[in-house]
Amino acid sequence: MTNGDDDAVARERERLAALYRYDVLDTPPEEAFDRITRLTKRVLQMAIVTVTFIDSHRQWFKSRQGIALTEALRDTAFCSEVIKHDEILIVEDALSDPRFATHPAVVGEPHLRFYCGVPLKTRDGHAIGTLCAIDLKPRHLEPDEMSLFADLGHLVMDELELRLVASVDSLTGTLSRRTLRREAARDFLHARRQKQELSCIVFDVDHFKRINDTYGHVIGDYVLQELVSICQRNLRATDYIGRIGGEEFMIMLPQTNDKAAFEVAERLRGAIEQAEFKTRSGPLKVTVSFGVANSDKSVADIDALLRRADVALYGAKRAGRNRAVNFATQNLDPGLRVA
Ligand code: GH3
Ligand code: MG
Ligand code: MG
Repeated sequence: MTNGDDDAVARERERLAALYRYDVLDTPPEEAFDRITRLTKRVLQMAIVTVTFIDSHRQWFKSRQGIALTEALRDTAFCSEVIKHDEILIVEDALSDPRFATHPAVVGEPHLRFYCGVPLKTRDGHAIGTLCAIDLKPRHLEPDEMSLFADLGHLVMDELELRLVASVDSLTGTLSRRTLRREAARDFLHARRQKQELSCIVFDVDHFKRINDTYGHVIGDYVLQELVSICQRNLRATDYIGRIGGEEFMIMLPQTNDKAAFEVAERLRGAIEQAEFKTRSGPLKVTVSFGVANSDKSVADIDALLRRADVALYGAKRAGRNRAVNFATQNLDPGLRVA
């Protein structure tokens, strides 16, 4: 393998990571995107318009007009060419273009003749998909039509960026409460179907109000950010963390039983206890309390799992803070237990 190949592999890996950040693949059709494809089809009088994302081996259509398929192979896709060259691709007549004249989508269904694809680019420059328009006869787009088409592509990206902003907590970069709940609900159902374990850890900073009162809100904010980095350094890639309240966070651990999750909580607790948070008035020490729960058969749904983790956290606070409590094994006050 040459260095050039290595670079291409690394670039593609980064491109896919950028695509996956938006968490859009295999989601249902949505009006916000359908409106854009409908508009494109109507204004430019095209036979087919799609918002296409290019996954590792497939092209997947988030929105489509004039075509029934939801996905297709990547290697033969016109849209893959747009991604490869990272610029708008226009094929006015595929039959007279040697690159595409024998293409299966030209000689076979849907017998396309005209193709126009604009790359959907992330802020950090990765082309993750295309807005693409197809016609069944040769066409020519005027410059003002081209710029309209490019603008419509930007609208698709704006919509995606908005969602990303709403799904992330701006202070700590962890998932927002709503996104975490949605992801956790999805993983709960998946774990149920696959008969896999799923654990949940909630944690809350001890006496955080005192930290704010003593050092001010700016230091309080910095402590929250540092706590999150300590957690992220100590978690697996498949675990994820969200901010569910001011100084309260939740970590979901797929394919993890409560014993292992408890060990994770203990490891995080220890790492936080050891850490020194630098402030102008000297190092500051912080402790955190943890509640752990596992989705065993007696847990009806995701909300029941989160409630159990909360009960365990409350137990940890009452038992003196700076500790982790596992819902399943601790002697909690029976009055606190939930079904
Ligand atoms: P406990 O050990 O029982 O959890 O005590 P606590 O002081 O941490 O609990 P309490 O809920 O009374 O206080 C939480 C504080 O967190 C109050 C609130 O002002 C502060 N807080 C919430 N969100 C933020 C934030 O984004 N930044 C900062 N700096 N403080 C925040
Ligand atoms: Mg607290
Ligand atoms: Mg709290």
